[in-house]
Amino acid sequence: MDNVQLLVDLYQDAQRQGPGGEEQTRLAITLSGLKKSRELKIADIGCGSGAATFVLAKTLDAHITAVDIHPEFLNRLAEAASRIGVADHVVTRTESMEQLSFAEEELDAIWSEGAIYNMGFAEGIEAWRKYLKSGGILAVSELTWLTEERPEELQAYWDREYPKVDTASAKMDILERLGFLPLGYFVLPENCWLDNYYRPIQKRFAGFLERHKKSAAARAIIKAEENEILFYEKYKAFVGYGYYIARKTAAAHGAPITGQAPPPARLVRPQDNDRNSDMVDTGFEPVTSSV
Ligand code: SAH
Repeated sequence: MDNVQLLVDLYQDAQRQGPGGEEQTRLAITLSGLKKSRELKIADIGCGSGAATFVLAKTLDAHITAVDIHPEFLNRLAEAASRIGVADHVVTRTESMEQLSFAEEELDAIWSEGAIYNMGFAEGIEAWRKYLKSGGILAVSELTWLTEERPEELQAYWDREYPKVDTASAKMDILERLGFLPLGYFVLPENCWLDNYYRPIQKRFAGFLERHKKSAAARAIIKAEENEILFYEKYKAFVGYGYYIARKTAAAHGAPITGQAPPPARLVRPQDNDRNSDMVDTGFEPVTSSV
């Protein structure tokens, strides 16, 4: 089993694969102004096992296409959709967020919690915009600097892992330049990381190590997870998840941003642990590389 499959195994029966919370998804829905309707078509991109999908399905009664690159998560999502009685609202689609198969202007809203970093915030927004109807809603959560200044160790870490981390004002500038009107912004509270994401995953560590006979690869993954949790706890005042809610305006104005950007930084993958042994990417948390 390679590292990606190990990570899928660690995360697939978790309720979420990144920080977030039901209450926060509902708050984003409120800020979006979307109203309950069977007619709404929404995509949840990088949906994992469906943490946000189910809140959207229940709150808005909408038709949701849940997209992820890993079928294991989508299988879990489909099982849970049947269990909680929303299977008739939810379809799954295994595809990459970089090559979505929606038609232009097909969607009323695009949701993406803790996943757009796989493409990059500006790159994802620029690529997905065309699938939204005019006036459609974009709601994404993205790693965000919470202060103007920060400790060097933290800056250096993110310069390596995801140099696109920025302040909320910089992220909103990207939204505006790409033809979106920001409608709302808030920061995920600590419990979205600790209670909803890290603690449940920590409970899986022992069983995971057992299942994989404490192999070196499995141990490296757990060590990286533990380090990441410690790192979050140490620096949570400086970095967190921003939730951005915006409306597509009639026309994009300003030059495309991503065309002029420097080449994307090399993202860390689990197999790169020779380079960064105690911070192996876990893949699912929103902060490092894709799996
Ligand atoms: N939204 C979920 C999952 C967030 S974790 C939650 O909040 O719990 C990021 C998700 O992005 C994972 O499920 C991962 O499988 C998915 N992913 C990673 N790269 C992807 C890609 N290129 N295209 C689509 N999904 C991807």
